Amino acid sequence: KKVIFSGMQPSGIITLGNYLGALKNWTNLQDEYNCLYCIVDMHAITVRQDPAVLRKNARELMMLYIAAGLDPEKNIIYMQSHVSAHAELAWILNCFTYMGELSRMTQFKDKSQKHSDNINAGLFTYPALMAADILLYQADLVPVGIDQRQHLELTRDIAIRFNNLYGDTFKVPEAYIPKVGAKIMSLQDPTKKMSKSDTDVNASISIIDDTDTIIRKFKRAVTDSETEVRFDEENKPGVSNLMTIYGAITGQTMEQVTNEFAGKGYGDFKVKVGEAVAEELKPLQNRFKELSSDKAYIDGVIKKNAETASYLATKTLRKVQKKVGFPPII
Ligand code: ATP
Ligand code: MG
Repeated sequence: KKVIFSGMQPSGIITLGNYLGALKNWTNLQDEYNCLYCIVDMHAITVRQDPAVLRKNARELMMLYIAAGLDPEKNIIYMQSHVSAHAELAWILNCFTYMGELSRMTQFKDKSQKHSDNINAGLFTYPALMAADILLYQADLVPVGIDQRQHLELTRDIAIRFNNLYGDTFKVPEAYIPKVGAKIMSLQDPTKKMSKSDTDVNASISIIDDTDTIIRKFKRAVTDSETEVRFDEENKPGVSNLMTIYGAITGQTMEQVTNEFAGKGYGDFKVKVGEAVAEELKPLQNRFKELSSDKAYIDGVIKKNAETASYLATKTLRKVQKKVGFPPII
């Protein structure tokens, strides 16, 4: 079976963007592939986090993975910080990653603009840690949203570079990006991607927002001064984003969505999108509530999967340590 690796940062409650761009697709892969889904808490601290909130978010993210339909018996769902091989391989890969490459990363540029008071070295070398995450498990495919494509390209370059220097060591992974929903935009600024760390609560739909909140946020979504529901990302980014969300959930093409709302105003349209989203998230939210009262179950998953992931990761790490010339323990 091929190996899939992906992860999300517990940097907030995940959004509809994270769900449509990544999580929803993960659940379709669990029978066909060997999947690892990580909660990348080490990546999250590249931006300042409150320790108590981070701890809570990390646990809730694991519960959301499971609530979305990931079976912890079929998938290795675990916390990044529980597997020290991530940090160890990241260090080695840092030494095979160029400053020039890291400087070109748009996520680094965006985040250092947003957090200009904390442009730390971890934020800069984020992609080397991400490469370690993926390469440790010899992943074939990495299901992510479009914003992570550039980091994945760099991961491939690092893997190829290392393989050329030391002989075949890493599987060179491929990005697996959904056709629809790979870049959901902010509801308040449809030229920016929706992000869970956005401080404007109206900009994103949290995956655990209740129906009223979801509909209210869609009603407030920024569109344009026309009235026609038409897909035109350049001139009508707000409407196009809502159409994409609706299409991703109902499985309709943009043409079908256009037909459904022909002659109807934005008001009706926005409410329909909100209702579809609320409906989609309901079952997940119910399971999330159930899981919240089962502490022992989540504790068990955390422990067991940390061990499984560590075992797998160590195999690659030892190989790499040997190749670069670290002396063995005799
Ligand atoms: P942050 O603002 O803290 O970076 P984020 O919303 O970007 O949070 P990440 O944890 O960085 O979330 O990314 C998790 C996954 O969600 C990645 O696969 C990423 O590509 C995907 N993703 C993030 N934002 C979107 C979006 N707006 N549309 C589709 N996919 C997205
Ligand atoms: Mg992000």
